[in-house]
Amino acid sequence: MSRNQSACSRLQHPAHGILARRLAQSAFMLAAIWLVGCEREAPLIEVEGPTMGTYYSVKVVNAPAGLTAQTLQHEVESTLNQVISEISTYDPNSELSRLNRNPSTDWIPVSSNLFEVIAEGQRIAALTDGAFDVTVGPLVNLWGFGPEAKTGEPPTPEAIQAALARVGWKNLELRTEPPAIRKTRGDLYIDLSALGEGVGADRVSAMLDAQGIRHDMVAVAGTIRAKGYNAKGQPWSIAIEEPLPDQRIVHRIVPVSDRAISTSGDYRNFFEKDGKRYSHEIDPKTGSPIESHLGSATVMGDRAMVVDGLATALMVLGDKRGPALAADQGLAAYFIVRDGTTLRGFGSPNFGNDTVSAIRQNGNP
Ligand code: ADP
Ligand code: MG
Repeated sequence: MSRNQSACSRLQHPAHGILARRLAQSAFMLAAIWLVGCEREAPLIEVEGPTMGTYYSVKVVNAPAGLTAQTLQHEVESTLNQVISEISTYDPNSELSRLNRNPSTDWIPVSSNLFEVIAEGQRIAALTDGAFDVTVGPLVNLWGFGPEAKTGEPPTPEAIQAALARVGWKNLELRTEPPAIRKTRGDLYIDLSALGEGVGADRVSAMLDAQGIRHDMVAVAGTIRAKGYNAKGQPWSIAIEEPLPDQRIVHRIVPVSDRAISTSGDYRNFFEKDGKRYSHEIDPKTGSPIESHLGSATVMGDRAMVVDGLATALMVLGDKRGPALAADQGLAAYFIVRDGTTLRGFGSPNFGNDTVSAIRQNGNP
């Protein structure tokens, strides 16, 4: 789907029409909403479509002469498909899937692109004392959040123990020159889904950069990278939603320019059994979905891959250790915690500095 537009409307979601409906119904959610006024606007090209089991949306302001929506869409999709062919566990032929099937415990050479993502995963694992762990894949799959269809049932304790035995980020060694990894267990299975949307957003953003584009916004589900300004010449307005299943209510709008922002939550991808919600974020210590009062965690920073991973990491750490790590590391993070029936949002000490003029919607400063 694509269009050229100079739309004049009050509040726009990144995807409209059929895509917007499918997006709202799907387990995934774009966190981006932007306000478009009725003043004179710069020319805008927008494309959107499905990717990585979710949706992407790209907006380009003041595109170079000759760039059509069709061309842009083709370039965006081939860039995202390239990322999928490198790091997706959903593509059985991807480099990562082949690596996961390789039972060798010797050094295995990997592409520099795949290496970079695994290395970022290991950096976040060290930072979070293993709360974030890219070897969590067997548990993700066991709980029905991987490439195979959801089971809708919690697995047995025995199955959880068996999968846990295969998990542990320290079972994975990295070597930079030339890029290679070594598994201490042949059945190690790496899952980079917590970083994938960010990798996609970074890569599309770099592709646009290379074409001399200076004002654009790239969203892959809840991970966004924005450059320059929107069609009104203002920072892109990104919405953090209330962490509520089946509802899209704006909690707070954050202006974003030359930054990346990512939200992870427990309110879109989960299943319920006997009145209990099981989320897709797994605690590698227990082998089970996280249980905490934290509804969502948002992180801002320079690179989408990094903030995507960190947002997931803060979710796994939960409502106490998440904010503590964010303060300790000077992250710009925003948390929404469930206090009984109310939702309470608060930023890390550096969040205010990063967003400067973050405003609350609905007149609640
Ligand atoms: P979303 O797809 O909602 O944007 P995230 O970026 O938060 O989600 O990533 C969630 C995915 O990360 C899960 O579906 C799973 O594949 C993977 N994952 C789950 N738990 C962990 C964990 N503890 N460490 C690293 N990755 C995880
Ligand atoms: Mg993530």
